[in-house]
Amino acid sequence: MSQAAFHYQGEDLWVEGVSLAELGATLGTPLYVYSTQALKANFQAYQLALKNQPSLIAYSVKAASNLAILHLLKEEGAGSDIVSGGELKRALQVGVDPQKIVFSGVGKTAEEMIQALKAGILMFNVESAPEMRLLAATARELGKKAPLALRVNPDVDPQTHPYIATGFRESKFGVPIEEALALYQEATADPYLEVVGLDCHIGSQLTSVSPFAAAAERLRALLARLAAVGVNIQLLDVGGGLGINYHGEEIPSPQELVQAFGELLAAYPGLRLILEPGRSIVGQAAVLLIKCLYNKVTPFKRFVITDGAMSDLIRPSLYGSYHEIKPVRAAGRPAAKVNVVGPICESGDFLAQDREIPLVESGEFLAVFGAGAYGFAMSSNYNSRPRPAEALVDGARFRVIRARETLEDLTRGETI
Ligand SMILES: *Cc1c(COP(=O)(O)O)cnc(C)c1O
Repeated sequence: MSQAAFHYQGEDLWVEGVSLAELGATLGTPLYVYSTQALKANFQAYQLALKNQPSLIAYSVKAASNLAILHLLKEEGAGSDIVSGGELKRALQVGVDPQKIVFSGVGKTAEEMIQALKAGILMFNVESAPEMRLLAATARELGKKAPLALRVNPDVDPQTHPYIATGFRESKFGVPIEEALALYQEATADPYLEVVGLDCHIGSQLTSVSPFAAAAERLRALLARLAAVGVNIQLLDVGGGLGINYHGEEIPSPQELVQAFGELLAAYPGLRLILEPGRSIVGQAAVLLIKCLYNKVTPFKRFVITDGAMSDLIRPSLYGSYHEIKPVRAAGRPAAKVNVVGPICESGDFLAQDREIPLVESGEFLAVFGAGAYGFAMSSNYNSRPRPAEALVDGARFRVIRARETLEDLTRGETI
């Protein structure tokens, strides 16, 4: 995926035609900075991989859900994969065609179902028998027919971090694939349900296509059994999950991902393929720009204390993830092994540990790479810190797509 949008010009780090030092000085830090060019290039790689295949690319809204990003991707042709009523509202607000929206997640409420049924979405990805029955009851009350797929759990090992592995048999996600046939038959018999698809999503940050190929085999066997009993599947949703290169990982291309389903698609030429990429679209399309507050040296460790914290980017604390960190001004500096940490009162508040990076002075900027996915989206107000602003660069121009939160924002809705 494209990272060419982030580059040094001389000693200064730029995003497309905008200097990060200038952005930091103008907009303040911490600041998420997204590249239009990178977002488009990453999305277009999927379009290219699918050009000969009836398909829908439903961008996974939870990865980065800013309206400007959703709008940009919609203009490129993306649909939305949503997991809440809040995400549905966002998708509709930027004008995503409801017939390009799929609704995933294990805990949909009746209110969310009503909202999505009224909007007329393409498909509910149902994850359990009780959810399916509630969906039928809700559709009946509205006098509508709910289009559905079952999200099956194919029991494959996606070889990723346990918190983001979803397709092995002990996870909370999906219906055990052995139980799918009976549920599909129940759905077919229900006048308020319309079986349209088959769905799976096996995990995130996958660095190999072999788990996808294993899932493809299981799905193919199920499709054959469904066809044999007359259950008609038109949409095959294989989820998202393609990884990005955080730390030298070799990542398969969208093309290779699609090829993993090649035999299955050849066997069922009428199927429309749905992909739900999130991370691989936005992950490398943004940096988190932060500022060094202090260099703190103890007899045991060297800390770079920054204004960026786990509340702004929780991935290192939550998953032990690696994010590359580089100074915005490279100027031949000595490097040292440091912990890059934030101001939060938790020892788990770090962005990097025991990392050799060029030393910066107080007031200088650092860029945390690969921060676009599950970055701002997972940010919080922990320690009563306003969440960062978000900016979108396009060529030599930039604009704020989410204002920095204010202290007033922090207490909105509270009463004494
Ligand atoms: C999170 C999620 C995705 C996106 O996963 P990425 O790894 O970001 O591509 C797609 N589908 C479902 C159901 C998800 O929960």
